Amino acid sequence: MTPFFYDAVIEQYQFSESHPLKPQRLMLLRALMEAYGLTAHLDRQTPPAIDESELRRVHTPEYIEVVRQLSAGAPILDAHRWGFSPYGDNPPFVGMWEAALAYTRATVAAAYAVRDGVPLAINITGGLHHALPNRASGFCVFNDPAIAVHILRERFERVAYLDIDLHHGDGVQWIFYHDASVLTVSIHEGGRWLFPGTGEANELGEGAAEGTSVNIPLAPYTDDALWWQAFEAVVPRAFERFQPDALVLQMGCDPHYLDPLGHLCLTAQGWLRGVQWAKSLGIPIVALGGGGYNLTTVPRMWTLAIATLVGVDLPDETPESFIWHDRIPTLTDHEPPAIDPADLHFARRYAETQITFWQRYWRLL
Ligand SMILES: [Zn+2]
Repeated sequence: MTPFFYDAVIEQYQFSESHPLKPQRLMLLRALMEAYGLTAHLDRQTPPAIDESELRRVHTPEYIEVVRQLSAGAPILDAHRWGFSPYGDNPPFVGMWEAALAYTRATVAAAYAVRDGVPLAINITGGLHHALPNRASGFCVFNDPAIAVHILRERFERVAYLDIDLHHGDGVQWIFYHDASVLTVSIHEGGRWLFPGTGEANELGEGAAEGTSVNIPLAPYTDDALWWQAFEAVVPRAFERFQPDALVLQMGCDPHYLDPLGHLCLTAQGWLRGVQWAKSLGIPIVALGGGGYNLTTVPRMWTLAIATLVGVDLPDETPESFIWHDRIPTLTDHEPPAIDPADLHFARRYAETQITFWQRYWRLL
């Protein structure tokens, strides 16, 4: 059975009242998975405590100490230097250390399981891809995907990171920007429209690692067909050239058209194709969550993703026993978003520009 690492402690934390990372999304996900009986296919485990050395695989000792101090309520005068501000995306809060450790240790446990021979391990509370070695960013305190990559590298020569979140997976990209043994691939809404402002195709990696950072920025109103066209034209070839032995998969589900943070217009089933493709690779996977802020989309999209990864077919209509059956009647979207033809036209030209960039780079044109 697939290990599913989940520390319920995380449901007790929220950055602030208005913060979009709502614990309810996890509670609803668990309720939906249980209603479907999907939990019977998973070996749910509470992750063990981790040593601080796991954090130091990515983060500086100074930054780790600042997180601990702020979490204990100690005043740190230059907190903004470390990415924390009461008015920004990362307001420090009491218990922040415990909350950040809860998702990080679940990713560490999943990565160790895969390193030690399990073909798939899941931490749906992880995938906080924006954190930098010495800076919190975009609701992310510790960069658990990057820690997972480091753990997998202890056994696997070449590790790939695939990020299908709405936002650019910038933290992971920069952490491995000079490392030729790690491929980072991110498909996202372009930085000229959305946080964190990076993720252009010409961010390629440096030195011997040039070509191991792959970005596919897309325009607002990109729909299922366009997203998949860009994915299919670039991602498989990047993987084929790199030949990874293992994968860290970030499954942020905020590209959905109902998500409040961005402007991509994917359906649940359109986004799921990325997960299906990753599964079809047949290499060991550490699967993580990520963004996703609409309570009627996150539970069903992650239920679909987890069922896909473990190879279980679920009926589209959600069980009547599910507490939100009325608000989430089906897993897939039955009414695709209506997109203005002019917007779609622009999005198509923008996507084609990205595809052409990669074809030129690989000298296919
Ligand atoms: Zn996101």
